[in-house]
Amino acid sequence: MKYYSLNQIKATANTSFEQAVIQGIAPDKGLYFPNEIRPLDPSFIKNIEQYSDQEIAFEIIKQFVNGEIPDKELKEIIAETLCFDFPTVKVEANVYALELFHGPTMAFKDVGARFMARCLGYFNKNKTDQQVTVLVATSGDTGGAVASGFLGVKGVDVVILYPSGKVSDIQEKQLTTLGQNIVALEVDGVFDDCQDMVKAAFLDPELKDQNLTSANSINVARWLPQMFYFFYAYKQLKNKHKDLVFSVPSGNFGNICAGIMAHKLGLPVKHFIAATNINDTVPVYMNTQKYEPKASKQTISNAMDVGNPSNFVRIQNLFDNDFNALSALFSSESYTDSQTIEALKKIYKNNGYIADPHGGVGYLGFKKYQEKNPETTGVFLETAHPVKFLDTVEKALDITLPITEQIKSVIDKEKTSIAISTFEDLKNYLNSRG
Ligand SMILES: *Cc1c(COP(=O)(O)O)cnc(C)c1O
Repeated sequence: MKYYSLNQIKATANTSFEQAVIQGIAPDKGLYFPNEIRPLDPSFIKNIEQYSDQEIAFEIIKQFVNGEIPDKELKEIIAETLCFDFPTVKVEANVYALELFHGPTMAFKDVGARFMARCLGYFNKNKTDQQVTVLVATSGDTGGAVASGFLGVKGVDVVILYPSGKVSDIQEKQLTTLGQNIVALEVDGVFDDCQDMVKAAFLDPELKDQNLTSANSINVARWLPQMFYFFYAYKQLKNKHKDLVFSVPSGNFGNICAGIMAHKLGLPVKHFIAATNINDTVPVYMNTQKYEPKASKQTISNAMDVGNPSNFVRIQNLFDNDFNALSALFSSESYTDSQTIEALKKIYKNNGYIADPHGGVGYLGFKKYQEKNPETTGVFLETAHPVKFLDTVEKALDITLPITEQIKSVIDKEKTSIAISTFEDLKNYLNSRG
């Protein structure tokens, strides 16, 4: 197995896992993609409850690591990545929340960030002369997960760009208070401005010597481990329900793309729903077949405020760019903030379950699908803990949320950030580090 850039044809694939992880994005701006996806042994999936979460992760990821990390070390990386649980919690008849928020920064991105940090640490172990800089744009949760996942990793500096005033207080604390090898740049703009600057930095010849890499879901080591928990949900529900449908609150579409990869590996899934907020580039595309990226708009599910989702090209590729094949397994719907708040209220009132705004969007996605497909069982991904969106959730539900240990550890710390507004500012900062 090798990786190729989606701006090229498959036959050109000659990039190793290590190169793909270290470069993040291909030199021609394309996203890396594996040239071969081998389904898992059907008997493994049939008997999945006999395996531990770590064993399942190893089976899933090993073909994509391609022997470049020895099995023993890869198993250690997996064990350190998966230091928390992934429960499916029944919310109402035939609807489950897959809780992905039990990790150190309380969002699903902990999985990819921890896995990637450790892979990069492994590849960098023997390169004493080379400092790598992980450059990452965040709409909210990536920054904290990457900061926590990479804190103290030798040979790696982390520079996080986030849109000023557009992330929650807790999210901001998680990415601006750690110090050590982590620096936060506070950008006067929206998430797409941050993402554009990061993309431009990778292509800028004057930054060539900086050894920049990306820890956004464009990086294969962040994207692929997100397959794990789709299998864990299946493992927990397979003997109780058939026809599982996953509804994934989506922004950059990395998480749902990993779910579709899991399906390619043989995971039985009836349908995938990409639920979005009013940043509806993909829902519009599914109706019109016109892909028209827009500037992102601010919402209460801010980690999904993305106007031009990076990973959608990967999803199209998984269906050989065949729209009919795509729409047979995948649909996408958008919801407003007020619909989301109503959903949070309803879930809480009827079932006592507290969802966060992203999970609320995911719930709505399944409920709409369920109207026409009442025989199915829905799993919506609870991608972040409600406490990360304290103001919104407390106000919507008229309750006080207990503060978790993970949040207590950052909430009183001092924020440190550097304000920037242009790409030149970013370049100046990177070059000033000597
Ligand atoms: C990042 C994030 C999303 C969106 O995930 P994508 O992989 O970018 O589609 C959804 N919910 C939360 C809480 C997130 O942090």
